[in-house]
Amino acid sequence: MSKETILRCSMCGRDKKETKILIAGINGHICDNCVTQAYTIVKEENGGNQKQQIQQALNLLKPTAIKQKLDEYVIGQDDAKKVLSVAVYNHFKRIAHVAKSNTEEIEIDKSNLILVGETGTGKTLLARTIAKMLNVPFCIADATVLTEAGYVGEDVESILTRLLQAADYDVAAAEKGIVFIDEVDKIARKSDNPSISRDVSGEGVQQAMLKLLEGTIVNVPPQGGRKHPDAKMIQVNTKNILFICGGAFDGIEKKIANRLNTQAVGYSASVLANEVDKTNLLQYISPQDLKAFGLIPELIGRLPVLTYLKPLDRATLRSILTEPKNALIKQYAHLFKMEGCKLSVDEEVLNLIVDKALEFKLGARGLRSICEAIITDVMYTLPSEEKPTKQLTITLDYAMQKLKNARLTHLQVA
Ligand code: ADP
Repeated sequence: MSKETILRCSMCGRDKKETKILIAGINGHICDNCVTQAYTIVKEENGGNQKQQIQQALNLLKPTAIKQKLDEYVIGQDDAKKVLSVAVYNHFKRIAHVAKSNTEEIEIDKSNLILVGETGTGKTLLARTIAKMLNVPFCIADATVLTEAGYVGEDVESILTRLLQAADYDVAAAEKGIVFIDEVDKIARKSDNPSISRDVSGEGVQQAMLKLLEGTIVNVPPQGGRKHPDAKMIQVNTKNILFICGGAFDGIEKKIANRLNTQAVGYSASVLANEVDKTNLLQYISPQDLKAFGLIPELIGRLPVLTYLKPLDRATLRSILTEPKNALIKQYAHLFKMEGCKLSVDEEVLNLIVDKALEFKLGARGLRSICEAIITDVMYTLPSEEKPTKQLTITLDYAMQKLKNARLTHLQVA
């Protein structure tokens, strides 16, 4: 009565006798043949996907698209944005290239960057925006606290501790991160001649940074410092980490001018002298000038992409107040909205804020302090008002009165 059930592969229909192995599932069977075939398909598909993903990322991250995105957050600085966009695009192409094959002969160099520009002109903002856009871990390190290994201060490796922390200790993510090293101009050696005595804070640190920038495997203490000698070191490969260095390089214009002047000797002197825009010498910056300033050639070589940021003029400062996606005034408006109040700021007040920032040489960083000086009082009283204010306009009179009481000179940066 019992009809013998013939076991078959549910995929290809072969009966058990025709297969080497028939694996049973919940509602069916699969033979060894189909398993092998399925595995091949999955492998091919995955390989294709990975290539596709890299290609898709590259398609999305075209330099023009990167710049457009930067435009949303950073005002002006078009030259720096363009150079940065290309460097980041190439950085990704380089990673894609490494991922595709290790056998190709051409190795694309790292495109670490150095941004030169006064403090508060947007260097950190550019680096931070790029990292946010790429969704990679980002950290800021201050070159002034770094010292050579063995001296009091932070080792160069501590930079990577910070990156690891930013990546939640996901080493693979950290290895594709972006590190912004601020104030590299402060580790310039003091004179153009290599000194005989050791220069702990300057050249030694530059030397220590070389390997890191180029790509090496670094043993990183997870907590930073050498206070926990027993802590297990984490190995981080810096090969695909993008380093962006920034510095004000105070007085570098003089070095640029000197170089341009010496070049402008001879029969083309007058032509060159006329072509030079003396109001913005930074645009002519070249690696030679960094060397003249005191960076060692090896370090300059590892920061092959060099660009500059302009000092912020009145119009730029005015735009910074209201135009970027998270512009200051938009942030305040949002804070007020959360209290159920619509905030508006008169145009004259915005101009006044810019004037004060210029007057006290506070740059963009000063805009916030000035806004705070004007708005703090009302932010203090508004939340506890019995009859909540629904609409608030900051007028010129009000702003002037608040600023009179504030001691703006105390905000002045050195
Ligand atoms: P830097 O690193 O050059 O010293 P930051 O990038 O830290 O300066 O800028 C300081 C602040 O000034 C930033 O938080 C940002 O709000 C503002 N800022 C500076 N430059 C710009 C700019 N070009 N566009 C928009 N905001 C800017």
